[in-house]
Amino acid sequence: MADVAEIVSRSHDLDETLNNVVELVAKRLDTDVCSIYLVAADMRNLILRATIGLDREAVEKVELPFGEGLVGLAAQRREPVVVEHASEHPRYRYFPETGEERYESLMAVPLIVRGVTVGVLAVQTRVPRNFDAREVEAFQTCAQLIAPVVINAQLLALVGETEDERAQRDAQLESSGLRLPAVPPKRPERNVEFSGNSTSRGVAIGPIFLLGNPLDLEHLDYTPSPTVAEEESDLLAAIQDARRDLDGTRDELGDQFGPEFAAVFHTHIQILEDKGFVSKLSSEVRRTADALEALRNVLAAYRKTFERIEDPYFRDRAIDVEDVGRRVMEKLLGVRFQVTALTEGSIVVADNILPGHFASLEMDKVAAIVSEHGGPTSHGAIFARTLEIPAITGVVGIQAAARAGELAIVDGGEGKIYLSPDEALIAEYERARTRYTVAIEHLDALRDRPAETRDGRRIALTANVGLLSDLRLVEQHGAEGIGLFRTELLAIAHRGFPEEEEQERLYERVARAMAPRPVTIRTLDIGGDKDIANLGIGEEENPQLGCRSIRLSLAHEGVFRTQLRALIRASTAGNVRLLLPMISSLDELRTAREMIDETKEQLVGEGIRIDPGMQVGIMIEVPAAALTADVLARECDFFSIGTNDLTQYTLAVDRGNEHVAHLYDPLHPAVLALIDQSVRAAARAGISVSLCGEMVNNPLAVPILVGLGISELSGAPSAVPLVKEIVHALDSGLVAADVREAREVGTAREVRRIAGRRLRDAGLLEHPDIGSWLRPTVEAALADE
Ligand code: PEP
Ligand code: MG
Repeated sequence: MADVAEIVSRSHDLDETLNNVVELVAKRLDTDVCSIYLVAADMRNLILRATIGLDREAVEKVELPFGEGLVGLAAQRREPVVVEHASEHPRYRYFPETGEERYESLMAVPLIVRGVTVGVLAVQTRVPRNFDAREVEAFQTCAQLIAPVVINAQLLALVGETEDERAQRDAQLESSGLRLPAVPPKRPERNVEFSGNSTSRGVAIGPIFLLGNPLDLEHLDYTPSPTVAEEESDLLAAIQDARRDLDGTRDELGDQFGPEFAAVFHTHIQILEDKGFVSKLSSEVRRTADALEALRNVLAAYRKTFERIEDPYFRDRAIDVEDVGRRVMEKLLGVRFQVTALTEGSIVVADNILPGHFASLEMDKVAAIVSEHGGPTSHGAIFARTLEIPAITGVVGIQAAARAGELAIVDGGEGKIYLSPDEALIAEYERARTRYTVAIEHLDALRDRPAETRDGRRIALTANVGLLSDLRLVEQHGAEGIGLFRTELLAIAHRGFPEEEEQERLYERVARAMAPRPVTIRTLDIGGDKDIANLGIGEEENPQLGCRSIRLSLAHEGVFRTQLRALIRASTAGNVRLLLPMISSLDELRTAREMIDETKEQLVGEGIRIDPGMQVGIMIEVPAAALTADVLARECDFFSIGTNDLTQYTLAVDRGNEHVAHLYDPLHPAVLALIDQSVRAAARAGISVSLCGEMVNNPLAVPILVGLGISELSGAPSAVPLVKEIVHALDSGLVAADVREAREVGTAREVRRIAGRRLRDAGLLEHPDIGSWLRPTVEAALADE
């Protein structure tokens, strides 16, 4: 990490970045040669772009297709190629212009960003050297850390491109699947209630703080210095100042959240250090004699370039450039963000949730964050979740509608914000908030008590998580393990697929932190509404029915096998179970299991210790799986029922479509029938069954799920205490009878009534902590009784 920071600090354009990388790697690994090959615009060839040790004249001249030579082989296989006597290798290809005949041993690893190979990093030595596993691993880690820095430098170089170069670049972006122009968002009518993406759970009531933009560069009142020379030197000083601040911010955030979060500031620093950025600013300020205008013009040029890219990863870089531009202006004006106006318990309304906000705002005064743009996958959103600050993103029109100081309610879990709410709504949310906080505090105090029905049936209450930062919540709320670890969130947080070592480290940390409690880690479930990766699937008419989840993994074997290796390697660190998502046929299960077995054998062959008995389970979330549960149960170790998708696919209701949201109901008798069938099949086969859909968090679902015979419920960490109290009040015989009745009725409303009755009759409405909390839900269920 420190080395990467050093490279970023010393690099001012693409060439310098690459040269610094090769120099540093050669030094660290003590090799005679280190070279970087980058993928050419055609995405089929590699071009030598930087080297230390080979003849520098060969830079930009040596070009080799994927698969050719040992370097090309690393790019093609997407894995390291390590050879002690390179010239004896059948794939060796000699490039006379490089003078590489002097070198005997070679180690090459691909540079991969978000699943796309962007180049190869290679080292060579004169004296034959047998690179050991530790060195290969170190080299891979190095490549992994460096790859984003390289891609950022390439991206910054984009802005200075000529039209020809741009056309070539567009072709490159297109062939790599990064699609061009996005459709502008529709503006809904102005309304009191606004919706967006639920980004971080929780309720907040407080005054609006408009983080509009004191630094809205379009409307800033600014008077330049009297001379051009002064204006330029002020601007350059502001850049230096901003740079120093960023260093401090990066260190602070690194200490607080860990280096993976601080890494985002490398991008910011890289921009400020970029020669192109600084020289463009300088020449603009000399032309306009006005630093603000210069900054506006340069930012506009960057924005124009970045906005043409649809891919969110690259679009986010545009946000980074804007953020950096504002920082510079802020320094020039000698002001900070509007920190002084922020009052206790404020709801911050911003254009975007930016990582910089967490450093520039007094976060202890921020009760919630709502942003007009962005989504739950941005770094800012991840910070908000880490800090348990309720947040909503993508709330179109909120900035124009919200007034500074106006009262608002934010319901992060529902993704809703209410401006100027009436007394009744405030009272309702205040009650809900207080009930929630007090109850959770009380219940958390009982975290070590196991969940058991009155008659002694044990129910394991585990948690669904997706980020390392969530582990704290698992402990806080007393979950008995992790019932679902959604690995795709790691990919989102990392803006790409982490490489094997990095994945392994993460899974291992989770397993170790939870041990001996179980951790069920699910393989990537990407696609559908979780479209994060540039895997070249292109636009799909019906992404929920398309190439998502296990289908995508099986279609992209390399990514899948990497994850399997990481997961199996991490399995020795604790009690790990592997979960395959969205299985819809026995063939799919068999193919995946074969790959798992092959991976295990491969690892054993490499002398790596594994847990041979690691359980492999499947998600039951497609009706086809529930209907063939008997055959599937014979070939896997456990079921995990995913009712979020099972409901969507059974009822033909897109889980993300607000127009049919009223039809989406996991308590629909058809969904219950499929759960029932799956549980019975699991019982016949003698395998365990858990349920990890969002319905676990719904109090009315709990008696039904317990009555169905499910022995593990996995929900949001914060729901664990509530579910536990409900379980304590239930009698397994009575809830089994409820289920028999529920299986006879025809509507979800009737199922809810049966469940509501059970919660009431179990005395839960009188429960000191959760009684008042449950009452509205139970009363609504019993309304027409
Ligand atoms: C589900 O479908 O119920 C589930 C738990 O998986 P996800 O919500 O991640 O699709
Ligand atoms: Mg699912």
